[in-house]
Amino acid sequence: MAGKCPFCGHRNMTAKQVEYLYRLGEQFMMVTDVPCLECEFCGEHYFEAAVLKRIEADFLAIQHSGKKPTKTIQVPVEAYSNL
Ligand SMILES: [Zn+2]
Repeated sequence: MAGKCPFCGHRNMTAKQVEYLYRLGEQFMMVTDVPCLECEFCGEHYFEAAVLKRIEADFLAIQHSGKKPTKTIQVPVEAYSNL
């Protein structure tokens, strides 16, 4: 997977590993070291469809098949108007 950034048209895309936050409704799963391409100009991240499908399949396995994630964290929630 190479070529231009679909967002800004810049030509230099770098292979990186980043943190990806999967969300379905109010349920989240954070996945670390996810491979992607990063645009050197605008910073947009592009993930291959197969990578996203794999994350989704793992999320479903945890939600429905009782798979144990590597670790679970708690995330505080605040409304900006209450700060
Ligand atoms: Zn770009």
